[in-house]
Amino acid sequence: MTATLNKPSPARAPQTRLGDNAPFTMTIGGRAVSSPMLLTLVDPATGEAFAQAPDAAAEQLSSAVAAARDAQPGWSARSMDERRAMLGAIAGALMAHGEELAALLTREQGKPLARAVEEVQLSAYWCAETARLDLPVETITDDTGSRVTLERLPLGVVGAIVPWNFPIAMAIFKIAPALLAGNTVVVKPSPFTPLTLLKLGERLRGVLPDGVLNVVSGGNGLGPWMTEHPGIDKISFTGATATGREVMAAAAPTLKRLTLELGGNDAAIVLDDIDVEAVAPLLFWGAFANSAQFCLAIKRLYVHDAVYDRLAAALVRIAADTPMGPGTREGVLLGPIQNQAQHDRLRVMLEDCRARAQRFLCGGKLPEGPGFFFPVTIVDNPPETSAVVQREAFGPLLPMLRFSDLDDAVRRANGTPFGLGASVWSGDPERALAVARRLQAGTVWVNEIHTIAPHKPMAGHKQSGIGVEFGVDGLREFTQARLISMRKAPAGSPPVSPETAGAAPSSAATGA
Ligand code: NAD
Repeated sequence: MTATLNKPSPARAPQTRLGDNAPFTMTIGGRAVSSPMLLTLVDPATGEAFAQAPDAAAEQLSSAVAAARDAQPGWSARSMDERRAMLGAIAGALMAHGEELAALLTREQGKPLARAVEEVQLSAYWCAETARLDLPVETITDDTGSRVTLERLPLGVVGAIVPWNFPIAMAIFKIAPALLAGNTVVVKPSPFTPLTLLKLGERLRGVLPDGVLNVVSGGNGLGPWMTEHPGIDKISFTGATATGREVMAAAAPTLKRLTLELGGNDAAIVLDDIDVEAVAPLLFWGAFANSAQFCLAIKRLYVHDAVYDRLAAALVRIAADTPMGPGTREGVLLGPIQNQAQHDRLRVMLEDCRARAQRFLCGGKLPEGPGFFFPVTIVDNPPETSAVVQREAFGPLLPMLRFSDLDDAVRRANGTPFGLGASVWSGDPERALAVARRLQAGTVWVNEIHTIAPHKPMAGHKQSGIGVEFGVDGLREFTQARLISMRKAPAGSPPVSPETAGAAPSSAATGA
């Protein structure tokens, strides 16, 4: 099965319930831990504070790292099948507490409740499917004289750092493979959206052995403390490219392993032979799902001159028929921007478009009233050099760009320091495939989009990332290799076969 994060089905919203009124606590060594300092959480649909979460001190991070280090030998000593069963238990907890978690997710992130339910379900599915991956010992050579094998061992303690757009899925994308490979984890949610992950940590107390999964929340200091911490062996980070650079620099003194999933400016190239009405909804949701707060969202829409006007009209119609509002309101398909700072960044980009007299096909006017709402805005063929084309908006502000020469479109699509995803759309899949092969991105979709899955490796080219997530390649990133090279004869004995007798002597054997 392949998962998608942008299904636009208008499912009926379940009842919102924030669970009990107990304060949110971190999970360290299997126990609830609060903090004298608190983060205040703002509901993006109203702009008002609605909850508080612990703001961890540096010593609390250290105690989480110590708990993870204590638990790690016992965890990695378990068989892969036992760890698989534990991932199944996490999936079970996600499903059992799905309603509570989804309600929290909508409240803190802003997304429609039906989408929050999907994100929790996707996270459960991800645990279950990741558990099916394997890390068998690889045999490099096995002959009469020697056997050489490559084993994959855990790294130790993984620090997982998560953004605010998919707070639970992005965390599970890291937690599941890290645990399967035999590591223990300290996970840090974004300070904007810590509640769902804190609640999951609480619900997993007693399900996982103490210390195997520690959840710590905090402000701006906590991420850097993690990346510098000598007790953490690897950082798996998802966030902005600028932050990724800081993570890499801070991890250097302790030579931590790194996986960085960073920003993107994904191009979609729409050829002249598409069925406009059939493809328009796919492009719309490819760009605007999760209110476009999506690393792999279409952020530049290159459309052939022959279909540009008809596609523009279709997208504008869909935008008009897509209700935006508080995620808790029934029937809403798009929620607010998650936080004020991101809303401000979008507003500045919008003002830049206006200052350059760029034309909006739809949107362009911020609504009155509370909350961080930003309307679906499509900019009509702005210059390639403008900010709205060159920078990642990370919100529903999409440049639609005209082309008539395919080579020119490919050159413009590749003309960015990013290389996360891309897509090509055509009535002829083989024709689209030939274009896809020319695009510089870690994932290129042909006539589909966002079909991510636990068994499909995902990586960023250029400044969109370092390393791989998902699939066996992603799982290997949570391991270190150990080569065992064994001579099949007693130590110091003469060669056992003509082949090994003829082998070049090693420096150790010759005493050189
Ligand atoms: P961000 O970089 O501001 O924050 C991400 C996480 O890093 C948060 O938990 C934050 O607290 C933490 N952090 C901040 N400064 C840090 C530092 N110096 N050291 C360590 N940790 C630090 O990103 P965001 O605003 O939460 O998310 C939006 C960005 O994430 C966008 O650029 C988007 O493209 C990117 N993103 C990428 C992917 C991907 O898979 N490539 C997925 C989702 C989001």
